[in-house]
Amino acid sequence: MKHKTKPAKKQKPVQKKSGPVVAKIASALKPQIKRAPATGSPQLVRGMKDILPQDQPLWEWVRQAFADVASGFGFDRIDTPIVEMRSLFERPLGTGSDVVLKEMYSFPDPGGEAELALRPEGTAGIVRAYIEHGMKNLPQPVKLSYIGPFFRHDRPQAGRQRQFHQASFELLGEAAPIADAEIIIATHAVLKDLSVPVTIQINSMGTKEERDGYARKLVDVLKPKRRQFCETCQLRLQNNPLRVLDCKESTCQELLTNIPQLVDFLDQPSRDHFMHVLEYLDEAQVPYILNNRIVRGFDYYTGTIFEIWPDLTEDQLKDASQMPVLSGAQNALGGGGRYDGLVQLLGGLPTPAVGVGLGIERVVLVLRALGREAPSETVRPDVFIAHLGDAARKRTLKLIDQLRHGGFTIVHNLAKDGLKPQLELANRRRCRYTLVMGQKEVLDGTLIIRDMDSGVQEVIDVNKVIPDLTRRLQKG
Ligand code: AMP
Repeated sequence: MKHKTKPAKKQKPVQKKSGPVVAKIASALKPQIKRAPATGSPQLVRGMKDILPQDQPLWEWVRQAFADVASGFGFDRIDTPIVEMRSLFERPLGTGSDVVLKEMYSFPDPGGEAELALRPEGTAGIVRAYIEHGMKNLPQPVKLSYIGPFFRHDRPQAGRQRQFHQASFELLGEAAPIADAEIIIATHAVLKDLSVPVTIQINSMGTKEERDGYARKLVDVLKPKRRQFCETCQLRLQNNPLRVLDCKESTCQELLTNIPQLVDFLDQPSRDHFMHVLEYLDEAQVPYILNNRIVRGFDYYTGTIFEIWPDLTEDQLKDASQMPVLSGAQNALGGGGRYDGLVQLLGGLPTPAVGVGLGIERVVLVLRALGREAPSETVRPDVFIAHLGDAARKRTLKLIDQLRHGGFTIVHNLAKDGLKPQLELANRRRCRYTLVMGQKEVLDGTLIIRDMDSGVQEVIDVNKVIPDLTRRLQKG
């Protein structure tokens, strides 16, 4: 049978969406693509990390602290897809932002028309979902929480990966300053529960008009010194002047002394709003400092913006070896702010909103730097189930099911045969009790229960194992 070959699809002309300055920055910043040799065993992709079993207790502790605060503050869980339309991020984040210019993982939808992206941040997807699911019809504010992976093709280093995880709160539909404060207080509560001392660095960007007025003034003041700035800042001065303020180059920072302050360009309503936020933080005893150099990287921010910084000594940071020096934005544990224009920008009704993203990798690094260990209750399983011989192995399958349904945390290794390696595993996992079932116990309908701390053993009726364990674990 003859196969007709399909005529090659006509390539659509690529639409040029950005101006020449943006294109110039993009090409200057775009990383060189190097092809890895195709031979050898598969390797982790650069900038990605495995979260190994030994890392999980700290990760789980952070996830749990976040989930507890989310439920205590009434944030409902939401999960949006990792893959979204690339266009969802372009305008909200800003066509001049680093993320849109050079860090987004984007690719054409196979077989489709759309250009897709691995989400580089969470807020745009949440706003899309808020609009698409008509959440404006729910009682406002709508309070959402989520946790998951995000992707940015940045230069990897300690505390900066190409796949990283954020735990986030978003509060949509409330303009009052208490909403800004609530987001900050909730984030602070997560870190307080993890015993991580932090200070909030906070600023206000005002309305778009106020910010634009300031940006014009900034350009006027800095233009005469333009050539002394780093190459990126020279381009930013044309394209995204406020980003010059948080450039990490010391030469650029020196050029920024005695410049006009954004706060002086805010009108009274913006100032009042900001003052109220600070009053609430005082009341809640959340430590903060004003930092008028914080501008945040995305265009969607308006009004209050903030970053969460760990209060660590230089020694604690060095001890952690993975943590670079304290200076540098890569050490902010999280950040967020108001984005009052974003819902409307994405096609919804004008809706005030505020949110935060906490970087889990960085929180875990700080927990390590502080020598913190996850509380043992979160990692200590209730029971190890050991078997001796095939008949016992079969009988333990039923026991495993019963105990799991009884709500016990259990560990077992059905592939191991000897008692010794099984008990070693029970010890390593710090199980509270071990149940041993051998040939004799199968026939008798009994079990040996061993208290792993005291070493005391007893024989119990297999049918009474659930009430027996419940009593023992409540006592312990
Ligand atoms: P942003 O969305 O840039 O405001 O980031 C919020 C938080 O997410 C940061 O403070 C970091 O804790 C974390 N984060 C952002 N980018 C990365 C990255 N490339 N690697 C690890 N964590 C990151």
